[in-house]
Amino acid sequence: MKIITDPLELKEYLKEVAKEHTIGFVPTMGALHEGHTSLIKRAKNENDFVVVSIFVNPTQFLKGEDLEKYPRRDEADKKICTLSGVDVLFFPQASDMYGDDEVSLQAPHVRGYILEGTTRPGHFNGVLTVVMKLLNIVSPTRAYFGKKDAQQLNLITLMAKQLFMSAEIVAVDTVRESDGLARSSRNVYLTSAERQEALKISASLYMASKMVAQKSLDSHAITSKMREILEPLEVAYVEVVSRDFVPLQEVQIGNSIILVEAKVGSTRLLDNIWI
Ligand code: AMP
Repeated sequence: MKIITDPLELKEYLKEVAKEHTIGFVPTMGALHEGHTSLIKRAKNENDFVVVSIFVNPTQFLKGEDLEKYPRRDEADKKICTLSGVDVLFFPQASDMYGDDEVSLQAPHVRGYILEGTTRPGHFNGVLTVVMKLLNIVSPTRAYFGKKDAQQLNLITLMAKQLFMSAEIVAVDTVRESDGLARSSRNVYLTSAERQEALKISASLYMASKMVAQKSLDSHAITSKMREILEPLEVAYVEVVSRDFVPLQEVQIGNSIILVEAKVGSTRLLDNIWI
């Protein structure tokens, strides 16, 4: 596996690769786990050549968030990428990616400022800006994102469409631990007692899907029941939206996502279920 840190060097290198190969790209912030490796596997299955990036992007963290203590596992991550058959690992520094007086993207005023955008105002500006930079550096045939970060996936898909970008954005299912907890780099922050408490999040989503299976489709009834299960966690939101991120009064089967953000101890966890 080749490791490249310089964006322009990578761009030049991949220009040659792209002449004869399709390129699959998996952007990450590292501390890789099985969620990430499932994206890599999918990229390998669907492309000739796979690029993974590891970059803890400072512009998507708000003041007071966990930028400094975000888990970094550089050596372990390199091993995981090698074992997963990654062709190139892009490992830039913040100074390679950003200069002074930067051009940046603005998340859409409605869809970028609900749910996660309410608890983290401005977060998606940073996400879209860095993803745009990464996609311009790599110019992949396909780029892979997890459904676990459903709003991020929706906004990136929207950006690719509205800015007439050429990469195909591919959505990959959420990978969970055997007890239901969605895999996340932030799970390492949880004490074992908190980890038990965190199971209430996936349990609330399983309850929601059970209600839907029993034809109970009213969003308020579903989210109220979920909030009961989530107690005493500090819930930021529980919401039913369409796949386009428009809030729904009633679940539409085949076009809905039910999302939760809750704090367990001091760790914010996200999860959702696609219905
Ligand atoms: P991150 O390193 O947390 O920024 O995540 C990098 C990519 O992996 C994003 O597209 C995430 O949505 C995706 N991802 C993170 N956790 C999971 C998971 N448990 N299952 C599937 N994809 C995931």
